[in-house]
Amino acid sequence: MAVEPLIDESSIQHRLEAMGREIEDDYRDKPLTIVAVLTGSLIALADLVRRIRIPLRIALVQASSYRGKTTTATTLVVNEAFAPDVAGRDVLLLDDILDTGQTLSALVQHIEDRGAASVRTAVLLRKIGRQIVPIEPDYCGFVIPDVFVVGYGLDYNDDYRHLPFVGVLRE
Ligand code: 5GP
Ligand code: MG
Repeated sequence: MAVEPLIDESSIQHRLEAMGREIEDDYRDKPLTIVAVLTGSLIALADLVRRIRIPLRIALVQASSYRGKTTTATTLVVNEAFAPDVAGRDVLLLDDILDTGQTLSALVQHIEDRGAASVRTAVLLRKIGRQIVPIEPDYCGFVIPDVFVVGYGLDYNDDYRHLPFVGVLRE
């Protein structure tokens, strides 16, 4: 398998800098908690938070989706071991990529149910053409075409997450 570069390292860092400025402006004097979705958003989380110069907290969630044998409906199961304490906090949910939108929309509901004061969403990537659930991310790094990408946190069978750039996996 070969990885063909799609978004280079410096473009990602520039974009995160701009997103950091937006987040700073929007959350000044608010109790911000960034809740990152494991595992794909970890690299973006580490780079993004170091560019945000207002107080914030970091929490994690883990969710897995299961598709039943007899149904096409996807169920998202949230790992309660992480159980982020978000009561009264203004939460920014961070994920690596918005694809069908099912993960992010279910997690927004989950975080609201845990008593957050507000919930917004940020994604590094937004894939065009596959969205099922109508959700608009509040902060978006890059819009990409319908290709399978790896790197900068994103995996294929748990490989490639460490690459400092985003690339397209080719056979
Ligand atoms: P959604 O619930 O929006 O369909 O899916 C979001 C999740 O699907 C992401 O968090 C990610 O784990 C996975 N995903 C979707 N598209 C891609 C892709 O192009 N590459 C990788 N590595 N994961 C993807
Ligand atoms: Mg994911």
